Amino acid sequence: MKTADAGKLLLENINIPKTGKAAVFNKVGEDISLKDFSLPEKIENKAALVKVRFSTICGSDLHTISGRRVEPTPLILGHEIIGDIVKLGDDLVYDGQGEKLEIGDRISWTIMASCGDCYFCRNNLPQKCVDLKKYGHTSIDDKDVKSSLLGGYGEYVYIIPGTTVYKVPENISDEIAAPANCALSTVMNAVETIGINQGDIVLIQGGGLLGLNACAIAKEAGAAEIILTDIIDSRLELAKKFGATKTLNIKDIDLKEFSMLLDVVTNKKESMLQLKFAVQKLLLTRLLQH
Ligand SMILES: [Zn+2]
Ligand SMILES: [Zn+2]
Repeated sequence: MKTADAGKLLLENINIPKTGKAAVFNKVGEDISLKDFSLPEKIENKAALVKVRFSTICGSDLHTISGRRVEPTPLILGHEIIGDIVKLGDDLVYDGQGEKLEIGDRISWTIMASCGDCYFCRNNLPQKCVDLKKYGHTSIDDKDVKSSLLGGYGEYVYIIPGTTVYKVPENISDEIAAPANCALSTVMNAVETIGINQGDIVLIQGGGLLGLNACAIAKEAGAAEIILTDIIDSRLELAKKFGATKTLNIKDIDLKEFSMLLDVVTNKKESMLQLKFAVQKLLLTRLLQH
């Protein structure tokens, strides 16, 4: 387990080999294979080469492996990544917050690179860019190292132009920082879209990493009630540590009762009292069943 305590890479300690290993996913049902990739000697403008410190297994990685999600293959999976800059292109001078970038910096970066120029990019939808490239979701092009080293399950990642990188503050460990560009940012987008205010009632369906992040953010935003549902008890317990005020195992729940709860939560005009009644009724139903 690597953390920020491992310290910043020192320039004199950076020894870049000619090749780097990566785990390649070919197709569903086939073992992932280790492969050597040539590392670029020259870095283009606004690009960087990063030595991977840490990469998570996101739900979408598992979905690709199981076949539930179809991606172009072969590819290097992994998109929630923390790494150290080992080579820096000429024009990649500042990170997304305007901090000067240097070789050795510990960084994370946006899940995708976009052109910044097309209709979607100009209309604040870079995630729909016509030239979109997503880390951990882009197939390998053997002739082009830039388009190959784009996944976290390898020793190196090539940061392509159009990516926004962020220096990770020293007091945040790799493990905490890694999911910021997918799990946390997905939840932040949802929270910003619906808007959570002081005293609000929030229902979160599912206690995976997104649900746990949502609990923490809803709590931070001042939600009065944070109700989390799941079908696994251990997840419900964990959610309480992240701010859930009520948890509910919906494994055998009456769907009619549950949709009533949803109706109440999604209609902001309904009163808190009505919600409490709905939740209590559900909890009572659960008690009577066991
Ligand atoms: Zn993800
Ligand atoms: Zn674009």
